[in-house]
Amino acid sequence: MRLLAPLPLLLPSVAFAAEPNADRWDAKARELLERSVAFPTVAGRGQVPAQAAYFADQLKAAGWAEGDLHILPYQAAPDNQTAALIARWPATGKPGGKPILLMAHLDVVDAKREDWSMDPFRLVEQDGYFYGRGTSDNKGGAVALVTALLRLRAEGFRPKRDLVLFFTGDEETTGEGARLGAAEWRKWTDAEFALNSDAGGGGFDKQGRPLGFSLQAAEKTYSMYSFTVRNRGGHSSKPRKDNAIYTLAEALKRLEAHRFAPMLNETTRAYFSVREKSETGPLGDAMRAWLKDPADGAAADAIEADEGEVGITRTRCVATRLEGGHADNALPQLARATVNCRIMPGVEPAAVRDELERVVNDPEVTVERTDDQKMSLASPLRPDVVAAYTAAVHRRHPTAPIMPEMSTGATDARPFRVSGIPVYGVDGAWGVVPDDLRAHGRDERLPVKALYDDVDHWVDMLKALAGK
Ligand SMILES: [Zn+2]
Repeated sequence: MRLLAPLPLLLPSVAFAAEPNADRWDAKARELLERSVAFPTVAGRGQVPAQAAYFADQLKAAGWAEGDLHILPYQAAPDNQTAALIARWPATGKPGGKPILLMAHLDVVDAKREDWSMDPFRLVEQDGYFYGRGTSDNKGGAVALVTALLRLRAEGFRPKRDLVLFFTGDEETTGEGARLGAAEWRKWTDAEFALNSDAGGGGFDKQGRPLGFSLQAAEKTYSMYSFTVRNRGGHSSKPRKDNAIYTLAEALKRLEAHRFAPMLNETTRAYFSVREKSETGPLGDAMRAWLKDPADGAAADAIEADEGEVGITRTRCVATRLEGGHADNALPQLARATVNCRIMPGVEPAAVRDELERVVNDPEVTVERTDDQKMSLASPLRPDVVAAYTAAVHRRHPTAPIMPEMSTGATDARPFRVSGIPVYGVDGAWGVVPDDLRAHGRDERLPVKALYDDVDHWVDMLKALAGK
């Protein structure tokens, strides 16, 4: 999920007039996060509906109409009964545009008490951090969104277009809620665009210097393939030239050596245009060369040699699992590799299968797709969203670069982008890189100030995009 985070005391302090009632809304955000972390919304534990009801109750108490709140149970997987929350704040008077969708997910990756320094499902505040599962991914974002809406309503804000919260309950596993949201539940979720709290956010180095805030506008397509070799087998005391394992091994060596054609899109062009300004040395040279000539495979290779940039210049496929053979003393009748591809937006997964088959170039090896993922699309960098995000970030972090981002992983944004609703990952939380990158890991945490900043950030964003 999000890129980053920081040691608040090391940050250059910038004086702002305190927001009226700032303490009250900080306290509200803290209360919501404390209650939210206490719901162990792990797949299969059945706690997501209760978490969704908790947020719905908060909104109802603040004036949301019963008919604008929907808790939608759904089956994400055979062992995962979960729920989504939809909450509409209707525009005041005649809407000035289509709704804006505000996204987060309520589920979290499992966390074991014995792996952590503390109970992962009890919020702990310590040394300027909130600790607990979901603090950074993505309960902190959900809480910031809800608190921002409660505050805007309390302060008399009148939205010029509907603001629709959409929180799913299985982002970390099946992503079924997002698929339903973009299709079956469209009558509630239809929007001009969506803002996602599960992506974006900022990173600082240990000296408190801002590395940048991401604006996620694209994701690669996650797609699965298999390479299969079958053979008549036989007794292993009589080896032959034809051997399923060796044939598969040759195919995998060709996959390893293969490079897909480099591709630059609007998002990655904007990203590298920001990055190259501060990047010195060979990496910066490679970025500048590649921006000049996106067909320059050597420059793309040099960029991808940096661990932080892997997957940004082209489709990448990698072997992730192997199976084969059936006895220690038999020639293998089957050898199979699982291949996971992260495909550039706008490229069909079927075309990647065809390319893999050409790469393998061996009729003994069957190359197949093993899922039916749809091609992802990049969202155009809307000037209004870019401007609102930039202003909101710069209000608190005036020198932070804004970096459009194409994620190599996947979030709930994908089915919406595919179905024609552009999505922007524009959360305003932050952390120190790499110390605070603990999403899915042990002792996950979020700087206390990052949560409170994130509420202010969403208030600013929504005023800019729904208040004029
Ligand atoms: Zn997430």
